[in-house]
Amino acid sequence: MKNEKMLLVSCCAPCSGGVIKMLAERGENFAVLFYNPNIRPLSEYERRRDENKRVCDAFNVPFIELDYNPCVWDEATKGLSNEPERGRRCDICFYLRLKKAAEYAKENGYTSFSSVLGISRYKDFDQVCRAGQRASDDVGIAYDMTNWRKDGGEQLRQAVETEFNMYRQRYCGCKPR
Ligand code: SF4
Repeated sequence: MKNEKMLLVSCCAPCSGGVIKMLAERGENFAVLFYNPNIRPLSEYERRRDENKRVCDAFNVPFIELDYNPCVWDEATKGLSNEPERGRRCDICFYLRLKKAAEYAKENGYTSFSSVLGISRYKDFDQVCRAGQRASDDVGIAYDMTNWRKDGGEQLRQAVETEFNMYRQRYCGCKPR
């Protein structure tokens, strides 16, 4: 990744902390993007955002927050409230967030974007990759499909979570069903 600049899309500190630490210690040129209009309520959004920023600050990694616009998410996922996690609502949710990230990355001189949205064991990694690739194709910037869980990533994720005594939420983002 040398001579490149990557935008790492993050949903929260527990999912991104290990990746942030690894990339920062490698000296990679990257920033973390927090665009999560799916998170409810606002107090929960703010708590996750602040926790994610705390980790970025500790490693001197730029933390970028885009608008919190839950109405956009509501409109995009209208009629899908009964979908299960990993279902069609998640397809739309991932694409909405990753497309916005791709646009931001392209407009701001990044050479690629990636995400930790599929790092949790509750997520379908391939589903996130499909949404990332679609956003990549639509916007015209490379999506890095690294599986951050692999090659010790999960162990590092857990270690950093403990190191920072992180707040761990009990649901993904949209209202628990
Ligand atoms: S479960 Fe998570 S990924 Fe799926 S729609 Fe809700 S917030 Fe988005």
